[in-house]
Amino acid sequence: MKSVAEYLDSPEQAADRALCLLRDAGGMSAAAVWAQSGGSWRRLACMGDADALPDGAALSAGKRPPAGVSGLALRGGDATLGWLSWRGTAPACLEAVAALLTGYLRYEALRAEQAAARTANETMLEISLLAGECPVLDRLLPRLHRLMQRLMDADNFYIALRDEDCAALHFPFYADRRDPAPPDPDQVFPLAGDQVSLAAWLLRGGAPMVLTGERIEALCAQESLARPAQLPAFWMGAPLRNAADELIGAAVLQRYEDQPPLTSAEQQLFMFAARHVGFALDRVLYHGRLERQVALRTSELEGANARLRAEVAIRKRAEQFQDVLFRIAELSNTSLSLEAFLSGLHRLLGEMVAARNCVVALYDMGRDLISFPYCSDEYAPALKPRKPGKGLIEQVLHSGRPLLLDPYGGMRGMAATQGGMPPKSWLGVPLYCDHELLGVLAVQSYDADVVYTFRDQEVLEFVANHIGAALARVRALEGLQQAYADLEQRVRERTSELDAVNAQLEFDSLHDPLTKLPNRNYFSKALRRAWDAYVDGGERFAVVFIDLDRFKLVNDTLGHLAGDHLLFEAGARIRSCLRHYDFLARLGGDEFAVLMFGMDAVEECEVIARRIVSEFERPVVLAGREVFSTASVGVVLADREHYHKADDLLRDADHAMYCTKQQGRQGYTLFSHQLRIDQADQLALETELRRALEEEGQLVPYYQPFVAAASGELAGFETLVRWQHPQRGLVSPAAFLPIAEESGLITRLDRYMINAACAQLQAWRAEGLAGEDIALHINLSSANFRDPDLVGWIGERIAHYRLPPAMLHLEITESALIDQPQAAATAMQALHGLGVRLALDDFGTGYSALSYLHRYRFDVLKIDQSFVFDLDRKQESVAIVRAILALARALDLEVVAEGVETASQRDKLTEMGCGMLQGYYFAAPAPAWALDWDKLARFKEPGDVA
Ligand code: C2E
Ligand code: CA
Ligand code: CA
Repeated sequence: MKSVAEYLDSPEQAADRALCLLRDAGGMSAAAVWAQSGGSWRRLACMGDADALPDGAALSAGKRPPAGVSGLALRGGDATLGWLSWRGTAPACLEAVAALLTGYLRYEALRAEQAAARTANETMLEISLLAGECPVLDRLLPRLHRLMQRLMDADNFYIALRDEDCAALHFPFYADRRDPAPPDPDQVFPLAGDQVSLAAWLLRGGAPMVLTGERIEALCAQESLARPAQLPAFWMGAPLRNAADELIGAAVLQRYEDQPPLTSAEQQLFMFAARHVGFALDRVLYHGRLERQVALRTSELEGANARLRAEVAIRKRAEQFQDVLFRIAELSNTSLSLEAFLSGLHRLLGEMVAARNCVVALYDMGRDLISFPYCSDEYAPALKPRKPGKGLIEQVLHSGRPLLLDPYGGMRGMAATQGGMPPKSWLGVPLYCDHELLGVLAVQSYDADVVYTFRDQEVLEFVANHIGAALARVRALEGLQQAYADLEQRVRERTSELDAVNAQLEFDSLHDPLTKLPNRNYFSKALRRAWDAYVDGGERFAVVFIDLDRFKLVNDTLGHLAGDHLLFEAGARIRSCLRHYDFLARLGGDEFAVLMFGMDAVEECEVIARRIVSEFERPVVLAGREVFSTASVGVVLADREHYHKADDLLRDADHAMYCTKQQGRQGYTLFSHQLRIDQADQLALETELRRALEEEGQLVPYYQPFVAAASGELAGFETLVRWQHPQRGLVSPAAFLPIAEESGLITRLDRYMINAACAQLQAWRAEGLAGEDIALHINLSSANFRDPDLVGWIGERIAHYRLPPAMLHLEITESALIDQPQAAATAMQALHGLGVRLALDDFGTGYSALSYLHRYRFDVLKIDQSFVFDLDRKQESVAIVRAILALARALDLEVVAEGVETASQRDKLTEMGCGMLQGYYFAAPAPAWALDWDKLARFKEPGDVA
């Protein structure tokens, strides 16, 4: 078999050789070999009278051969590859020759199949590559057709595609040998409805279809489809799908009767090819869509770009105009003369318009005269004022509208009226201020290349619109110049007068008018300067704060004139204690401050402070009277470690002075680290006191009895506050009352104590311990007088505890009366109205001004313990107590002497006629539960007391 295949070129040659072998063997008169390929039969070779032998088709169809004729099928596997037919007798080698021939035919069939497969594969690949090579449908489709033709007889081949929104069908490629009117590529056909094409029908089903001519006719009738103009013998359609398996169209192949029928292999191959065609078309269509989109976006972008460019140009022009506007405004403000303004304007104009020659004409209606405040021209000389004539300027003035003349229009023949060298182009616009026509702004050109346009007119009008007002302003300004010059002279004269006044004002603003000393303002500045110098390594300094004691009393009792005198005297006395370079100021009221330079140690400060204090020990003679007004002093030494700003020094000097006051006035305090700590501690104490007032039981009322001196009978109690502090233990009022006063908590504390005392009194009365002759004293701070509800509240408490009001005594100190004379008088009046009694506390220590006793109605007077204390030692104190007692008797006041500690004091006071006595000698203050009522009753027997 191998040898046959090698030596034989074709099946014909093989058949020929086979017949030669058979002829040589003898017996056969005629013979022929038939082979089948693609469904048709072909005679490969013959000998003798072979035409009379039946053909392959007849033999394989099983037709009976004529007599004397024999046939042998050449079979390879199941398929009949050919036939051998002969007349005569078969030689012995027939079997072997037939087998050889069969083998050869089989080999040939396989080879043909292989070649077809290779072609098909190559074609598919090319179809796939088509999309890349031809991005346009018009070029791709003819090539596709050629490729299809390579695969099979595809002369009649067309492609149908759905449009993008799947509404219609068109045929971008249509090859048909017979069809007289193939559809136009741009023509669209319906996809649905009556008389649709076969391709549309196929797309509706979405499956491949192979139809014969008869079947087509039946289908068109049944489904009312459009009948093809030329009915084909075979019609084969395959749907085209894209990669996403969506239908995009169909590929169709037709055969007419004169063409070979469709084999099943062709059908398979066509369907297979259609898949590749679908992908290729989809890629090209997608590409086309993309390109269309890109083109669309590009044109959109170009449109936007053009708009943007136009906008930018408009904005630029607007900006340019804006800029010109600013510069005109600036020009009109900075130009000192009209001429300067106009020449500046000309320069500006030159940046936008070809304005080498420029004229400004102004029309004076009153004189009917045109003047030319500005004229810059290459040829024309300066223009003289003239009566209106027939010039171009006059035309603009007359019409009130711009005039543009170019060489082609009205310019010709203009020279005559203008005089001089004729311009080639002229542009003039009216100048308005508001609605008043002021004149004309004109430019002209002698250059044939420079022709003014409407655009230039626009610019000129714009400028003209904005210089009208500026022009008016500059003109007015010029007139003002002279007026200013006159004024300036007068201003110079006045200035020197004013300087003197200012100096006085400056002095006044920094000095106190009464003492002529620097004031607080000046002091603050000096202090800050001293501090800055010190911080920069300059000399150290001290701040001294001085406050006069009892100044208010002097003012109130001796009058303001005396007060002024005292302040003046005080300033002089302080000054006398200082070195000439120390800085003394009156801060206000009775407060003075000193900056003492070159102070390095506390001791140096003390020397001066002491000197100041002692300077005030001498009385001052005021209105013929000797008045003692002592001073309280506080001193702070500048210190970089503890201070960050100058004001804090003054604050601490003030605080130190306040400490002096608290310690009984007249003296000095050096602000120290301890004071700073105390300050912090006092802040903490204030917070704690606030809490104590809100809780029950921390603030405890103590009661100290006082007795009738003559009988020793219990006369009453004074209520004194104690603070049972959870950490600090029992705190005495001296430690926290100043804080309560300063923070304003004192009014709450007093209310607390009044309420507690009233409750206690009610309890005692309920127990029958206190009869109505017992007095209960409660201390009341002056701060309460500011409280308008105080009296009402006390009345309400008295009613609440059902107390006889006369049992309650409120103790008030003299200082309270000095602080708030009017409020105190009103409150005391009201308290009297309630039936409550009033006691003047600490009498003798304060101002002891007798006027108070007259002015306010007191019921009881309490002699201060300092006098009682000195009774045994100082004869002077005996005299004072005696005087107080006489006074009380005269005013009909009861008297309580405080601080009785010894029997001798008791005896002396009793002997002098003091009504009541209070002090440790009888009992120390104690809480209610600790009172020994039995012992209180025994004061009756004086002998028993010890
Ligand atoms: P004050 O009104 O002069 O009260 C008398 C002070 O003398 C009390 O001091 C008392 O304990 C003390 N004392 C009594 N007998 C003697 C004695 O024989 N010798 C000495 N050396 N002292 C004696 P205390 O309780 O420390 O109160 C001090 C000041 O606090 C009171 O002086 C009063 O002004 C004020 N105070 C006390 N409680 C209250 C209160 O509830 N409200 C107000 N606003 N002030 C109060
Ligand atoms: Ca008291
Ligand atoms: Ca007292």
